[in-house]
Amino acid sequence: MNATPILSPRMSGIKASPASVLRRRARELRAAGREIIELSSGNLDFPTPDHVIAAAHQAARRGETRYTDVDGTPELKRAVQAALLRDHQLDYEPNEIVITNGSTQALFNALLATLAPEDEVIVPAPYWAPYLDQVRLAGGMPVIVPCAQNNGFRLRAEDLQAAISPRTRWIVVNNPVNPSGALYSPEDLAEIAAILMRHPDVWVLADGLYEHIVFNGAPAPTLAEIEPRLKPRTLTVSGLAKSYAMMGWRIGYAAGPAALIREMITIQSQTTSGASSISQAAAIAALDSAQDVLAERAAILRARRDRFSELVNGCSGLSCTPPEATFYLLVSCAGVIGKRASDGKLIATDRDFSSYLLEQADLVVFPGEDFGLSPYIRVSFANPSSTIEEAAKRLKRACEALQ
Ligand code: PMP
Repeated sequence: MNATPILSPRMSGIKASPASVLRRRARELRAAGREIIELSSGNLDFPTPDHVIAAAHQAARRGETRYTDVDGTPELKRAVQAALLRDHQLDYEPNEIVITNGSTQALFNALLATLAPEDEVIVPAPYWAPYLDQVRLAGGMPVIVPCAQNNGFRLRAEDLQAAISPRTRWIVVNNPVNPSGALYSPEDLAEIAAILMRHPDVWVLADGLYEHIVFNGAPAPTLAEIEPRLKPRTLTVSGLAKSYAMMGWRIGYAAGPAALIREMITIQSQTTSGASSISQAAAIAALDSAQDVLAERAAILRARRDRFSELVNGCSGLSCTPPEATFYLLVSCAGVIGKRASDGKLIATDRDFSSYLLEQADLVVFPGEDFGLSPYIRVSFANPSSTIEEAAKRLKRACEALQ
């Protein structure tokens, strides 16, 4: 007999993250012999740079295999401090920095440390899905603010203003944005900052995980750099996952007011004891070495973006604008909604369309419903060119087969 545990009320409405569900589904289908292409993945196809792997190996051989300080090794904190200064002209002291198991943990620790029941967190949509359940797990309530395509999927200052209530504790400002690939310019952020200056109790979770996957050269700006007066109530979060193709190494970080960082470290001391020693050594090598790899890889991704968006725009019923950052296309599928598959099944939603693509075209894509904006699908171009060409062929065929 399989026993079912009695669950905490905290779990009500909490689901496995959509990305993890899709990853599992793709693995199952592959195991069943299907030639699945994962356009849903947040993994880059690039390897972690060689010198980073070498640094990890050397650290392990040197015996750096013990627990580190909970808040991260002093050497990695120093490397993060230098990177924030180099990339954003942001000056943080070591006691204002914490190293975490991926930026996921930085975000969650901050929410857990600060939210009381019914506290609100403003999340612009489309969003990275885990923001919502992290807020709920921490006892708060997400307040979703839609960001329309005709404004480049960016938050408008007036919509932010309208969403702020006496219960608002945080606003999430993700730049560049997963899943839309939108990039907030310094001017865009200044407009958001101007609203926030009128609301001194609202704090900012600035998530810059994709800051180096930008196609115009400079790293994406972050709020504390644009409006220094917001720095005392901003948590600047980032990580190594996307910039250096180190998704599985699980290194993220947060920089912010010492009093908040201290509470986040307390939570970390009681939950994970901190990040992996070997991964931290690797992260130092990534942050401290020449950064040429970032521009080289961004150029490759840019070429793939151009090719994939051209092919996607050639599929009947689909349309997208090439994004300024990230490795995702947010594709409107409004033109296929209401059509039917050859077996008569109606495509009524983007989730139906995603299921259809999985069943009929062996393509895994993210439905817009999972990131709060429909009818869209998110497809990744962090795939080799040959995969992108094959995926586009399947997509085109699948769209043509709809009536
Ligand atoms: N923020 C955003 C916007 C993301 O897309 C992701 C992962 N895809 C994360 C945070 C978390 O990444 P990690 O924990 O690997 O640093």
